[in-house]
Amino acid sequence: MTAMDLKQVMKDYFIDLDLAAGDPDRRVAWCTSVGPAEILRAMGFEVFFPENHGAMLGATRICMDTIPVANAFGYSPDICSYLTSDVGAWQKGITPLTKAYGIESVPNPDILVYNTNQCKDVMHWFEYFGKEFDAPVFGIHPPTHLPQVETNHVADVVAQFEDLIKVLEQLQGRAMVQEDLRKTCALSREATDLWAEVLETAMARPSPLSFFDGTIFMGPIVVLRGTEIARDYYRSLLTELKSKVDANEAAVPGETKRIYWDGMPIWGRLRSLSELFRDNQACVVASTYCNSWIFSDFDGDDPLPSMARAYLKIFINRNDHYKEEYIRKLVTDYHIDGVVFHDAKTCPNNSNSQYNLPARLRDSGIPAVIINGDLCDLRCYSDEQSATVIEAFVETL
Ligand code: SF4
Repeated sequence: MTAMDLKQVMKDYFIDLDLAAGDPDRRVAWCTSVGPAEILRAMGFEVFFPENHGAMLGATRICMDTIPVANAFGYSPDICSYLTSDVGAWQKGITPLTKAYGIESVPNPDILVYNTNQCKDVMHWFEYFGKEFDAPVFGIHPPTHLPQVETNHVADVVAQFEDLIKVLEQLQGRAMVQEDLRKTCALSREATDLWAEVLETAMARPSPLSFFDGTIFMGPIVVLRGTEIARDYYRSLLTELKSKVDANEAAVPGETKRIYWDGMPIWGRLRSLSELFRDNQACVVASTYCNSWIFSDFDGDDPLPSMARAYLKIFINRNDHYKEEYIRKLVTDYHIDGVVFHDAKTCPNNSNSQYNLPARLRDSGIPAVIINGDLCDLRCYSDEQSATVIEAFVETL
């Protein structure tokens, strides 16, 4: 399967969601990107991920027209620009799904489920849309910023999952079929293991893929976790990438430097940044962002506790020491020459440069640099400044 087929996979997903939203016999749930999608799917919901929609608003730069609408409505320019992009788009009555797939609007939710394992902005975001659609909103509030994931943390989240299941059972008028949950969880595990292997192909020199490719390839692991489609897609992508490794095919021709990217992508500048690194023979071979959808704990034989562990253990939900050790390991495993930290103005939650981490890396001999920007709001980003900083940084490596 190739990138062409990825387009089809994503198209089919959105078209089916649209059909589900218009079908009285089907139900749609909105879910945060690292929320319990497996439970929703096992309970027969089609799942829509507003953050994915936010990324589309960013990548198409439609957000530059919609963020100010949300700002004028009272959502600060300093909060998550996925949220402001999305709220503004809703208020303007527009969506990138129209141009991409001929879909008029985001699908109406029957329930919205968020998990604050990533940040609390998702709570405000989902509460807004819960009111707009007059739909129930369910929040998972796990322990956060953990050095270790302990048994009591897992028990806490399992209890919250069980409460969620009761709400879903009422909406669907039927009980959860345990076998469905086991199967969904097992499928998520298969897909995420394959996604990990896909990313690991970048350990090869030269790397067959870059972070910028990864931000596109990651679509199914975000929106189709728990389905056979996601598993099959990554199986085929892995085959393709392995053959590129065998053929010494480089994502960045003449790769001489290998970079780690920490923080959010700058969606509206993926292409120009990709070209900037390419022109400097530097390949961004690993990132915190793409790795955030590796959930090695999922276990179909122990669905709820294993899901609780997986969603508690994510990088963004860990303490600073864990994050430092994590990045150091990837720097070694991927033979990284330098680390670029993206300090995203509206996502301090996923910007890791603010508590001395780059300085600690530098002290131990790992070059690191910080660029200022944002995931969506390009008012916070300067092409010239970033190009100067990145070019100078790569040159010193
Ligand atoms: S983690 Fe950052 S980008 Fe994601 S929803 Fe929260 S504030 Fe927004």
